[in-house]
Amino acid sequence: MQAGTQNKKLKTSSKNVAGRGVESTSYQNRFVKGIPFKFDYEASVESTEVVKIKSQNELFIGGKFVKPQSGKYFKTLNPATENVLAEVAEANSTDVDLAVLAARKAFATWSKLSGHERGRYLFKIARIIQERAREVAILESLDNGKPIKETRDVDTPLAAAHFFYHAGWADKLEYVVPGRSVAPLGVVGQIIPWNFPLLMAAWKIAPALACGNTVVLKPAETTPLTALLLAEIIQQAELPEGVVNIVTGAGETGANLVDHPDVNKIAFTGSTDIGRRIQKAIAGTQKRLTLELGGKSAHIIFEDAAIDQAIEGVINGIYFNQGHVCCAGSRLLLEESISELFVKKLKKRMQKIRIGNPLDKNTDIGAINSAGELQKIQNLVGVGKTEGGEFFEPNLTLPSKGYFHKPCFFNGVSSAATLSRVEVFGPVLTIATFRTPEEAVLKANDTPYGLAAGLWSEKGSKIHKVASRLRAGVIWANTYNKFDPTSPFGGYYESGFGREGGRHGLLGYLEVK
Ligand code: ADP
Repeated sequence: MQAGTQNKKLKTSSKNVAGRGVESTSYQNRFVKGIPFKFDYEASVESTEVVKIKSQNELFIGGKFVKPQSGKYFKTLNPATENVLAEVAEANSTDVDLAVLAARKAFATWSKLSGHERGRYLFKIARIIQERAREVAILESLDNGKPIKETRDVDTPLAAAHFFYHAGWADKLEYVVPGRSVAPLGVVGQIIPWNFPLLMAAWKIAPALACGNTVVLKPAETTPLTALLLAEIIQQAELPEGVVNIVTGAGETGANLVDHPDVNKIAFTGSTDIGRRIQKAIAGTQKRLTLELGGKSAHIIFEDAAIDQAIEGVINGIYFNQGHVCCAGSRLLLEESISELFVKKLKKRMQKIRIGNPLDKNTDIGAINSAGELQKIQNLVGVGKTEGGEFFEPNLTLPSKGYFHKPCFFNGVSSAATLSRVEVFGPVLTIATFRTPEEAVLKANDTPYGLAAGLWSEKGSKIHKVASRLRAGVIWANTYNKFDPTSPFGGYYESGFGREGGRHGLLGYLEVK
């Protein structure tokens, strides 16, 4: 940590803000060393003993935290309280230049290190993420609004897993394309969104480094804090300076990185709109590009599925992470014979969802990441209400402060309706029916996107047959939203191109000779 920065050290307590009477005990207590349990929502959502939030956060360039040349800072909020968590440096084009320069300088030595040595650094980063997992998970919940049980059980362990997995590849790159030799690309610019801030950073940085590239990463402007914590972890791991640089800022900072002449590749995850803009910006240059964009993924339930498990799969498919998931199962397709029963059970199950304080281990749905995103979701739900179909939302109480949206669905929505076509990126599901597997395939593929799909059936042959006809990069059977660093992730059509994760993901960071 930089000398002279002021640490905020606040107390933690917990309460289920939906007022459902569920008290967090063991897990929360482990986080609240020595502090008596206080049911004070205002205090509880702000911070904890183990997280020290710097009031002013700098850029991470050349292995050091440095003040921005721009002299500017922006605020990042806790979306569950609307309170400011910290100020963060805003990188301008000079700052981006300095970061690219540091990455270029580091490339000369990093790319020459043996794979074994690079792998050791990645292992070290993975181990430190594990050691600091509590701190990471809490900070992510505070800055993003997602429930602690997700940051604790999904985001943080998966971030470590990406470093572990790619550490293993670093000295085996000759097996990525058997019979061919490979070389790193150079300096990679990586731009990530706010829905899985730390996980996206790990997902991007780990393969790039394993392949011998150096990195300039730009986190999203509403969730920069865990990327900066990762910078601290990288310092702690003694990664050679300049191998990873982190420039915080908004779209303009991202555009400066995209336009920088000394960047060899851009890896972007975010909206289809910005993805298109980036594609245009680098057209005609030598830069490589991978895009992981939006989705409108179909979740198909056949009549022979295990219904109760499928209900859980659907809940997880769309309401996990407040629906801020590019591969969310946002279009539910039910075989007509079970649709009535399924919808009845779904409503009952949704009534049990707990929404509220992200730091409560019992919370299922936390805060929407920003006021802008909440407004966007509310607008689209408004449009949905004018387009027909049965609208349902459970009778849950939302916290009085913060950006929250109830989980909901529209049942009986036509394929042409706005909500069947547009990515909401929130806890909003559409439901339609089908009569035959052929009709299910037609409806599932009737989208400009092609990121993911889910299938539920007890018949393996049906799953294989239908899956082979779905135009989606990721297909889950009898589960949903399961992520693994060994599995390539990416889409078709407007969901982007290129794969991340697995052997295929490495191809995006290598020149094949
Ligand atoms: P989302 O829909 O998830 O908010 P965006 O596509 O708006 O995603 O943002 C994803 C990332 O892209 C963020 O880090 C954001 O700052 C960055 N970004 C936004 N505009 C641009 C741009 N014109 N060029 C490069 N990056 C951008």
